[in-house]
Order: sequence, then structure tokens, then C-alpha cells
Amino acid sequence: MEPATIVKTIHQYSKTSLPDEDMQKLQEIADDYNAVKEYVYQRYGGIHSLSKIYPGYTVQNEMTQSGRRTELGLPSVYFYLAVFDALGDIKTQWTRVRSEILRRIMKNKEFTQEDRHYLRFVTKINTCFSSILCGKNVEIPKEMESKYEQLLAEISDVEKLHRYLRRQVRKNLHKMHTDKADGFFIAERAYRYGQQDEGNNASYGIFVATKEKRQRIFIPLTDTNQYKKQLYIKLNAENNTVEIAIPKVLEVQCHDEYVKEVGLSIGIWQMFTTHEGHVYGEHLGELHMELADFIRESNKTYRREKQNNPGRKKYQNKKARLEARIHDYINQELNRMLETEQPKVFYLPKLPKSMPAGVNKNINYSLNVWQRGYIRKRFTQKCRENNIEIVEVIGKDISRECSRCGAQGTYVKDDFTCSQCGYEIDKKQNAAANALHRGKTGRRLNKTYPVSDNS
Ligand SMILES: [Zn+2]
Repeated sequence: MEPATIVKTIHQYSKTSLPDEDMQKLQEIADDYNAVKEYVYQRYGGIHSLSKIYPGYTVQNEMTQSGRRTELGLPSVYFYLAVFDALGDIKTQWTRVRSEILRRIMKNKEFTQEDRHYLRFVTKINTCFSSILCGKNVEIPKEMESKYEQLLAEISDVEKLHRYLRRQVRKNLHKMHTDKADGFFIAERAYRYGQQDEGNNASYGIFVATKEKRQRIFIPLTDTNQYKKQLYIKLNAENNTVEIAIPKVLEVQCHDEYVKEVGLSIGIWQMFTTHEGHVYGEHLGELHMELADFIRESNKTYRREKQNNPGRKKYQNKKARLEARIHDYINQELNRMLETEQPKVFYLPKLPKSMPAGVNKNINYSLNVWQRGYIRKRFTQKCRENNIEIVEVIGKDISRECSRCGAQGTYVKDDFTCSQCGYEIDKKQNAAANALHRGKTGRRLNKTYPVSDNS
């Protein structure tokens, strides 16, 4: 069996805010890149181009001949990546449309079994599907002709089926559009890592090709890692910073010693509490508070001194630093949890869509900056990387139930007391124990995130 793999995205960050003129040059590339994508969407996003997009050389050639590249003055290293980037999106959309149609074909009760066989066959073969959509004679690859004739002989109204396909495609194929010019892919040829000497302090970073010949701009980075592959450069115009995303394919790590079943509860102040009362991320609340306080204070100052037009850059930088610190902390604590608990499976209640508003105004403020989405994303990713299953359990009344006898209890602040058996336990630990119990006894919402699911 092939080892299971997952794609992990590694990030690099610019160390400081970039000068406006450098940012401007990057923005120009992003704008052109976006314009090329938009052009490809318009020209090749429809049904008449379906035959051209696999494998895509026709599009590449036509785009070369279109003269768009010279018009924009965009270096070819960027131009062709933009073309393939857009083509990738178009292909993704076609994949989605096809599987949606296949799903509908299976569900539609008006079709005979033979109709379904025919429809599935022609939908899956690109040339064939494409010719039907364009209303042309059906094109079939030589080696499949006999199979096609066989299927065709079994159905009564072939035109009706073709009309059905065209209707479904019209319904499901959307016009693609992009107006977000905030980044671009960059090929290995268009960058190099290295040092730039400025007086006494040399800084490490990446040199990026621009639209001007032999003019590379330097982006100082927070780390000294080097990658040799296609990167994605994401621009943050708000504070003149840059984020680099590097996709990396990893093998899933299987740990034979990870055998434990662990119940978890999630908190605002403490990130995770286990059914045994172990706490991970106990300073999370404090860090969030610090960030919330900073934002609140800065907003006050900002409103007061608006006329003086204070620069927001300093504010954005500090905010980004505080957020980065929270993210580091979250990752460290998640790692520590996995190494300490050595779990085979985590049971946890499903997170509510929105947190109930607290009475404390400070807490409300803090909720706005609470990195719940980030925690969830990192937690899921790390579990996938380590072959750990995550099971969501029914969350209703999970904090009110006694984990020893199942009766309802009450809690004061962080202490839970059972009204039936008198059991006293930390509220979060009690909820985590309930999650474990619910998971083991099959009160699961869904079996989420199985490792084999690479979506
Ligand atoms: Zn009890």
C-alpha cells in the first residue's frame, strides 16, 4: 500500500514592513497576474473550451500568441504561472460540475439503468462530453467505440439525454471571476534566497524578480530556510508585509505507541482540558486579553487623534506580532499535548457556531480576537499528520451532566458538583470525561477527519 500523504503548507514571513516603492512593485505583479487569470477565465471557462483545457498546451500556445504578455510587460515566469493557475481553477470547477452531474444522474428516478450507464460513460470521457455539450457529433476515442455502440443500442432517446447533460452543465458551471489581486505564484527561476548587506547588519531574505529587467527587490524574512520549488507570495497591503506559502507533501506519521482514547473540552481561557484533567494552553486567555486590550486602547487613541492622521502601520505591526505570538503558543501547546497524551483518538464536543455572549464586556472583546478558527485548523492538521482520529460528539448539556453517574449537576465558576452522587470535579475535566464517554458509547455526531480523507 502507498503510504498516506497530506499536503502541509509551510509559511515564511517578512521581517519588517517593506518600503512603499517595493510594495508597489510587488502589487504591480499581482495586478497583472490577476488580469491574466481573469482573461483565461473569460476565454477558457466556458463549454466551448473544454476540449482545450486538458492537458492545457493549446491554451498555453494560444496565450503566447495572444500578445497579452507583451502588452502587460509581465515577465514570462509570472505570466505562465498565472495561466496555469487559472487553468487549475477551471479544471477544479469542471471536476466539481462532473461529480455533481454524476450524483444527479444516480438520483434521478426518470432514468432507466441503461440511461444511467450511457450518461456516466459519456460524462467521464472528455472529448465525448465536450462534443455533446457543444451540440456536435459525438466524438469517441477509437478504443472505446465498440463500448459506446453497445451502450447506445440500449437507450431509446439519446437526444433527450444529451439535452439533460447540457441543461445540467448550464445550471452548474458558473462564470469565474477574480478581483482579488493580493498575491501570485513565483517559479524558482524568479527568486533566490540570500543576504543583503546594509551597513553593519546583514539581513537574510529573498530576492524577487520584478517587471523591470534585472531589478530584484529584497524581502527580509524572519527565518533562514530555503525552498526550491514554486512559492506563493501573498501581499498584505494593509501593513506592507508579505507572507510566503510553500506547499509540502508529507507522509503521515504512524506512531504505534499512540493508543490512548482521550476526551477533550475546549475553552477560552484554557485551550484544551483532558478527561484526566491535564491542561494545554493554560495561558491562552491571558494572551488573548493582552491582544484585545491593545486593540481597544489603540482604537481609542485612533479615534481621538484621527485628524492628525496617525500612521496605522505601527499599530498593524504590533498587532501582527501579538497574533504571531499567540499562534506560536498554540502550536507549541498542541505539540506538547500530542507528545504527552499519545492519543489514538480524540473525542470532543462539536464547537458551537458562535460563542454565547458573556456578561463581561472584556470577555466579549476577547471573543472577537479569539483564534478559534486557527486552533481548529492547526489541531486538525496536526492530528492528520500523526494519524490521530478526531471524533466529534454530541455537545448538548455536556457541561451539566455528571461524568460519574450521568445525573444533572450544577457548577459554580470552575467547580462542578453532582446533585445526585455528590461528585466534585473541575468543570472542564467533567465535560472532557463526558466527551470520552459519549464517544466510546457511540453518541457521535460524525466520524470527522478520517486520515484517508485528503480533501
Ligand atoms: Zn453524579
